[in-house]
This record gives sequence, structure tokens and C-alpha cells, in this order.
Amino acid sequence: MLEIKYTIDDITTLMYVDQVHIFSNFNKQWVTAASLKTGDKIIARNGSQASILRIVEVDTRKPNAELVAKLRDVKLSHNHHFFVTQQPQSALEVSCEQPPNDPLELIPYQLANKPSYLPNGEPTGHHSGPWVAAKYVDEVGNEFIGWGRANDRHCAEDAAVIDLKDKVADVSLLTQQNVTISHAYIRKYSKRGRLINTMSPCQYCRDNYGMALNDSRVGDSNVVKAGRDHLPIA
Ligand SMILES: [Zn+2]
Repeated sequence: MLEIKYTIDDITTLMYVDQVHIFSNFNKQWVTAASLKTGDKIIARNGSQASILRIVEVDTRKPNAELVAKLRDVKLSHNHHFFVTQQPQSALEVSCEQPPNDPLELIPYQLANKPSYLPNGEPTGHHSGPWVAAKYVDEVGNEFIGWGRANDRHCAEDAAVIDLKDKVADVSLLTQQNVTISHAYIRKYSKRGRLINTMSPCQYCRDNYGMALNDSRVGDSNVVKAGRDHLPIA
């Protein structure tokens, strides 16, 4: 494992990658992490260049306390995703972050976690979200799951419920008691890397989905949206 210290835009930070990890240098040539030297420049997905300040080989089999803390830092462990690479992203990304265990939560998490860029830097078109999933279990135990993302017309919670209603024969059966609505997940970028964040429901969703919501926090979004939906209380 290599610890790479670098500067990008106005910040100096670290990332951890295997020796074989592929970066793109400023000539758009593929280079392995092991071949990088101090002063080399590598390309981030947003087009910025990072300058390598220092590369140190670290032994993750016998990490000291300081290294353990750095390896557990989500931002540091995520930083390499900020860079153009030849490797497929999906498997790497899942292994680098703790996905939720709940299968319902996993759906919007994975939708938000899809790669934004192909290895050549072209955007994939995968929407960053926020994504939400909603589940209904009928009286005989059949599971129905809908999902969707926020847009100008509706919140992500609305989108998931609308999709769920499309999949259930008799929508009048759906109530706040027998529908479960996941947290909302959104893909975000900071200068330091790529993160999947959760967003709390807005007051409107809180009022209209209440007990169906897994997320008990209340956000401050009160944006006017035309496509609002709701679930009745049983
Ligand atoms: Zn909302």
C-alpha cells in the first residue's frame, strides 16, 4: 500500500492506493501508482491536476495507531476515486466504503454510488440523487419495492412512493404503517474526494410520510414542488 501526499486546488491531503492502481498523468498516459515520483502530476476527474508531494510505502499488516486512524478516515480512503483511473469503479467503490446492511437502504445507496465518469473521463449520466427506496409487504408476505430520485417536481421520497404505487395492484392498501421509506442518499464531491451522504426528509415529507420514513431527522427543505405525494395513516 502507498501513502501519497499531494496538493490539489488549494489543499494538501493524502490518499491510499495499491502499487498497481492506475492513474492518468498530465499527458493522458496511464501510469501505475508505483511508478509515480515526487513532482509528478496526475489528473482528477474534474480536470484538476494534483501534484505529488511525497510517496511512502506503508505496511498495512502492521499499522501503527496513526496509520490505522488515517486508513479509517473515509475521506482519505476515498480520495483515489477523485482521480481518473483505468480500473472499473464499481467493485472498488463498494469495497472502500461501508454500504448499509439493510437491503432496502442498499438500493438508493447503490444508485447514488454509481460511477459518474468512465475511465476516459466521459460522464456516465448516472444521476447523483438524492435517491430513495420504498417497500410495501402485502398480507401474504409479497414484497414490492419502488425507488426514485428527486427532481424539480418531487422529493426523492415522493419519487419512491410514486414508483411503488406503479408496482402495486391496489394502491389504496398502502399506508404509512405498511410502507417503509429508506433514507435518502446523494453522491457528493468535495475538493478532497467523493462521498455518499444521506439527506434528511423535508418537513413536507415528514408530514406526509411520517411513520413510513426510516429517517427521523427533519431537513429544512421547503422548496415548492408540484408532484407531491402522500401516504394515508391506516
Ligand atoms: Zn421532501
